[in-house]
Amino acid sequence: CGIFGVVGVQDASTFVALGLHALQHRGQEAGGIVAHDPEQGFNNARRFGYVRDNFTSQKIMETLPGPLSIGHVRYSTSGSKGQTAIRDVQPFFGEFSMGGAAIAHNGNITNANTLRRELIERGSIFQSSSDSECIIHLMARSMGRSIPDRMEEALRKVEGAFSVVAMTRTKLIGVRDPLGVRPLVLGKIGDGWALSSETCALDIIGAEFVREIEPGEMVVINTDGVQSHFPFRRQKPRFCIFEHVYFSRPDSILGGRSVYETREAIGRELAKESPVEADLVCPVPDSGTPAAIGFSLESGIPYAMGIIRNQYMGRTFIEPTEQIRNMGVRLKLNVNRALIKGKRVILVDDSVVRGTTSRKIKEMILDAGAKEVHFRIASPPTAWPCFYGVDTPQREKLLAATMSEDEMREHLAVDSLKFISLDGLYRAVGEAQGRNPTCPQYCDACFSGEYPVKPADMVEQGFQM
Ligand code: 5GP
Ligand code: SF4
Ligand code: MG
Repeated sequence: CGIFGVVGVQDASTFVALGLHALQHRGQEAGGIVAHDPEQGFNNARRFGYVRDNFTSQKIMETLPGPLSIGHVRYSTSGSKGQTAIRDVQPFFGEFSMGGAAIAHNGNITNANTLRRELIERGSIFQSSSDSECIIHLMARSMGRSIPDRMEEALRKVEGAFSVVAMTRTKLIGVRDPLGVRPLVLGKIGDGWALSSETCALDIIGAEFVREIEPGEMVVINTDGVQSHFPFRRQKPRFCIFEHVYFSRPDSILGGRSVYETREAIGRELAKESPVEADLVCPVPDSGTPAAIGFSLESGIPYAMGIIRNQYMGRTFIEPTEQIRNMGVRLKLNVNRALIKGKRVILVDDSVVRGTTSRKIKEMILDAGAKEVHFRIASPPTAWPCFYGVDTPQREKLLAATMSEDEMREHLAVDSLKFISLDGLYRAVGEAQGRNPTCPQYCDACFSGEYPVKPADMVEQGFQM
């Protein structure tokens, strides 16, 4: 998901709409905005679909006045899937004795089932099926004297990954979980402030990137400035390494590094680790592009756009009939035949999950007359599901969970298939010594199976770590 908030500017919600538009890659199913105005109080709008289709008209933006606003773009990793329930669309809102508060959450609460059960037993009435709603009910139960105090107390009971942007009538609040699994950054805009999942959304509103919110940090912001404190027990951070590989936008800065440059470095590492003779390096667009450029630069093999992406095809295209569904990846990607015919082609993609994309693309490339197809993947084999806010399928459906690298190559029927090593990936993100096996610098559970936070709900449901 993507989260964004602004305080201290006129018509804050219009800045939030722009910020969410720049974060659309983090969630395409739905979006919501809450704004507060001293005269009109709190207002909210939640809609299915893209920000550009929902939050651009004057008609809707006029209903969200005021100098303080937060928003959320949704990508379902818990609760209902797809566009099934508007009640699961954030921000969530609660009315407390000291006033209202709205919250937007990115991540996944790994003990949400237990918390929900306990809360319902004690009388909480849930409005949604989302894990994030627990935070509101925990706040309602807290005896804290201010909303930030209550949020702090609520979040101490929550396990897993959370970056949160919240607002009261006068304050913008940002929190990152102690491991800092999901990103959150602080920006300055005029006399006001912004919080965002990624720096690319600060750029779009002309805000200056100030710094990252630190793992375990809570900031409470009003027009007087930013107050920071660390309410959780300090732990060694474990940022999601997959944000560098795939999730974040290449024009964002993460951990002081350009995501684009990191991805290019991944491509270079791949070329060093798994070289192969070929005529062309082609990305699987768009997610494989920077790594393919890095592979080409390192290997000296020319880069070419052998696959063209239809820019108008969203990730959540409606698939109305069986006939159209069977066209699958063809709706989005097409082979540039003139380039491919008779060539030995290296295809670079960011990841192999179920293997569906790679299989279809290989068929298309061979149909177009390629002589050889070599896959190079910018992440290690995805063998474990993510429980911290990326929607990977059940373990059985992950290709790498049931097959060795050789078996995957056979299954995909390609001339070669190589993944970057875990150490290679760590080097590419700036860890010159590679992965520290006793205390890894990042979360890499989807590749290593080493979960930094026990996924309590899943273990309860029989998941074997
Ligand atoms: P597969 O077809 O193997 O199941 O999935 C791999 C493709 O899905 C890759 O091209 C990658 O860019 C994309 N991908 C990887 N992780 C995610 C994710 O969390 N969400 C979405 N929508 N796509 C993903
Ligand atoms: Fe990121 Fe993978 Fe960890 Fe999930 S399991 S937080 S995708 S590194
Ligand atoms: Mg892709």
